[in-house]
Formats: sequence, C-alpha cells, structure tokens
Amino acid sequence: MRKIIITALYLVFSFITFSQKTDRPKLVVGIIVDQMRWDFLYRYYDRYSPNGGFKRLMTKGFNCENTNIPFVPTYTACGHSSIYTGSLPSITGITGNEWYDNEKQDYVYCTADTGAKTIGSITAAAGKMSPKNLLTTTICDELKLATNFKSKVIGIALKDRGGILPAGHSANAAYWYDSKTGQWITSSYYMNELPQWVLNFNNQKLVDTYYKQGWKTLYPISTYVQSTTDDNSYEVKPFGKVFPYDLSTLAGKNYNPILATPFGNTLTTEFAKASINNEQLGADSITDFLAISYSSPDYVGHSFGPNSIEAEDTYLRLDAELAELFDFLDTKVGKEQYLIFLTADHGAAHVPAFMKDNKIPSGNLVLSSLVDSMNQRLKETFGVSDLVINILNHQVILNIPIIESNLKLKADDIKSWIVKYLLKQEAVDNAFVIEDIQSTTFNAFQKKMITNGFYANRCGHIYVLLKPQWLEGFEKGGTTHGLWNPYDAHIPLLWYGWKIKQGTLYRNVSMTDIAATLAAMLKIQAPNGSVGEVITELLK
Ligand code: ZN
Ligand code: ZN
Repeated sequence: MRKIIITALYLVFSFITFSQKTDRPKLVVGIIVDQMRWDFLYRYYDRYSPNGGFKRLMTKGFNCENTNIPFVPTYTACGHSSIYTGSLPSITGITGNEWYDNEKQDYVYCTADTGAKTIGSITAAAGKMSPKNLLTTTICDELKLATNFKSKVIGIALKDRGGILPAGHSANAAYWYDSKTGQWITSSYYMNELPQWVLNFNNQKLVDTYYKQGWKTLYPISTYVQSTTDDNSYEVKPFGKVFPYDLSTLAGKNYNPILATPFGNTLTTEFAKASINNEQLGADSITDFLAISYSSPDYVGHSFGPNSIEAEDTYLRLDAELAELFDFLDTKVGKEQYLIFLTADHGAAHVPAFMKDNKIPSGNLVLSSLVDSMNQRLKETFGVSDLVINILNHQVILNIPIIESNLKLKADDIKSWIVKYLLKQEAVDNAFVIEDIQSTTFNAFQKKMITNGFYANRCGHIYVLLKPQWLEGFEKGGTTHGLWNPYDAHIPLLWYGWKIKQGTLYRNVSMTDIAATLAAMLKIQAPNGSVGEVITELLK
C-alpha cells in the first residue's frame, strides 16, 4: 500500500514538474544604438513620431533615466562587452577597441583572431575575427548554457565588434559588414559558409539601391530647428557641402561611405528582419536572442557632431525603422512574447569649435604631436630615442624593452618626468602613474572609473585625464567620445515587451546592471564576470 502511494505521489509530482515550464519570452532583442547620447531621447522628442519606435518604448515601456557607464574608456568594444557581460574592462579584458599588449609588445584589435578566416567575401582581413579576446561569458552564452545550447543566438552589426562581442563565445553566428564589398560576412569561427538566406540577402545589393536614392532630409530642412544650419564649419563633410547629398556615383564602387548615413541603419534593420524570418528566431518556446547594434549613428556622430541636421535626421529615420521592427516582431513573434532592451555603448561630446563659438570651454589635443614632442624632450633629457610608444585609450605606453635593456635608465625617473610634462599641457586635467592610482590624490569618482577600466597587460603606464569637453584629435571638425564625462557616459536604457510594465526609474543604475537584470528575468545564471545589480523596480 505504502509503495503504491509513493508511486502515485511520484507520478503526480513528475507530471507537475514536466508540465510547468520555465516562464521565459520567446525572443530577446537587444538593441544598442552606437553613440546614442541619453539626451537624444528628449532632444528630438517632439520630432519623434507618435507611432515611432522611441515613443513606443518611452510611453509603453520602462525607462531607466539615469543609466551610466562605470568605467573608462567609453569606447565601442568596452561598451558592447559591458552591456552583455555585466562586467568591466578590468575583468573582461576588453580595454579598448584596440590596445597594446605588453607581453606581445604589439597592438591587438579587440576582436582580432589570426586563426579565423573570412566567410562570405574575398576581403581577407575583414573576417579574421572572433570573441576570443573577451575573457568572460555574455548573457547570450549563459542563455545557451541554461537551455543546453537549444537557444539560438545571433549578433548583427555593421561593425564586427558590435556583433561579435554581444553574441559571445557560443553564438550560432555573428554577422558584420564588409565595407569593401557591401556584403554581410562572418568568420570561420562560426561557420564554413554563409547560409543561403544571407547569400540571397547580399544578392539584393541594397546598398546600391540606397546610394541611388541619395540622402535628403526626411522632412523639409527648415523644420530642423534643433540643429545648427547645415552650412557650417563644425563637420567633416564626407558627401559635399550641404543637403541634399547625391550618393549615386558611389553605387557599385565604394561601399564604405554608407556607414556614415542613415541607410546603414536601414541595411541593419532589413538584415535583422531577414535573420528572424530565416533562422526562425522566437518561433518555438525555447528562448532565442538577437543582439542588434546600430553602428551608423556612431559614424554620423563622428563626422557631423550631435548638433547637426545629419544627426537629427539619422535619429528621426531610426525612430521610423524601430517602429517597423517592433511591428514586425508583433506579427512574427507575437505581442508580449518578446523582450526588448535599447541602450547605447557610449555617448559623444559636442564639437569643440561649436562649443567655443558659444563661449563654452573646450579644445582639441593633437595626440601625435604630443607623443613626438614628448619623445624629443625625453631624448634631450635621458639621451634615448622613442621612450614613448604611443598614447592609446588615454594612457601613455612606455617602451619597456628599451628602458629595461639600458642600465642607465630608471623607469621611475622617466615616469615622473612624463607626468610633469603632461601636467603642463593645456588639455590635461590630471596625469599620474597608473600603478600609483590609489596613492594619488584626486576625486574618487574618476578614480573608480579608471580602475574599472584597467587590465594591466592590456593597458599603458601613465594615465592622461583630459579636461571636460577636450577631445583627442578632430581639430578639423567632427567629434568623439571615450572619457568619463556625462556626455560620454550617460546612456539611454529602455525596456519593452514581455513582462515589462510602463514605468520610469530615476535612481542611478549602471551599464553593468543590464545583464544582471536580464539574468534575473530569464532565470538564468549571470555572466561569469558580472558585477551588476538587478534593477528590481523593473521586476515588480
Ligand atoms: Zn561605439
Ligand atoms: Zn565612436
């Protein structure tokens, strides 16, 4: 009798366990808008369509208004990896888009993999890529581990690093753009040939179609009152003097300039939709993950700056495209069946000349001439040439082999000479030996961000902190990012869809909280380098 009861209980229990599935969305769509400043949500708010993508996220989703990057440098590779790992460059090892490896004594590109081959074009260098330099898992890897690799994960971005780093190590695929051929490609790390649907997509030659359309403003140019008039000296002018831009001569010839137009976003949206269709993302009950990064806003931003008609037009067009993507997801995957988050890898500074003309302190530092002048003066003082290799990611890289092989040289003397020299430069706010950061007196806020970005073998020796609104380079127009300041570090963070209630959160949250929160929502382990905290307000 007892045996029968136990067997019956066992059967009932196993029925309950097998019939209760873990509650997860069918698809997670991560959207990174490369270089989207937080204030772009409001700068163009009145211009975004009531049915557009941004207002849908802002009025129906959950808005984390004060999301900040907790490290420097605020560059693309660091941002993309932090969003998806919940971690910091000091742990992921992704200390820049490129860094100097002190052991190899050579530069390393963030996603370089000499063992990998290009799949999908004859451009040899474009596909020698993989996530192998990323030292931790991403949330996509953890989803794979949680579902015994049944989840599908795909990363998509025009920039290789924008697709590869989010998708992680165990992704089914990452695709990026070959600017020599105008085609989507991948690397042998993922597969040995492109799927038929990618070949079909490439055969459409959409870039030529976009080039033939040209770039004119979406609305009459007189309505772009939020931006500087088009004929100004603050922009690098890649397509001529003013709108409208005739791009037709580029068709069939030069596939690089598309990057700095809104059509790069169109190409990305179309490819994302094709991947959902053809890979059946979100088609069954096992959660899939599509990591999209829109790279073009970064190229547009660098060329034209945040106060340009080009930037405004790019965001107004992106607004419409996001709406189209969300409508597509509603039909294809189903309302409330997919989870979206939208954020940025970093923001950008205003153009220094524009700020100066408006009486706001700013300036440009020409790095190459600083390195040259430093080496010249070091030679006069210590009698040895080329003691500084470069300044990269705001760090002076010393030529350690030369210093160590020369018995007359003392590294400490050279370091303190360099610090003194740097402190005399108008652009420099602070400079110190990175090893001595804890004993150097300056504010804890910046100290923490610099420490979070420091991974010894992939970093330099002396940190150069620039004054607010001072840029490295771009003295002939355009702008950049990379520093601790709010214009670079304050990013949008919007959640929408599966289990997301409408809401706004004003307390500060961190870029690293995104992956931690996703892990909690999906009931999977946080990435193995995650330091993020769960945004609990989102789950209530
Ligand atoms: Zn970026
Ligand atoms: Zn950039």
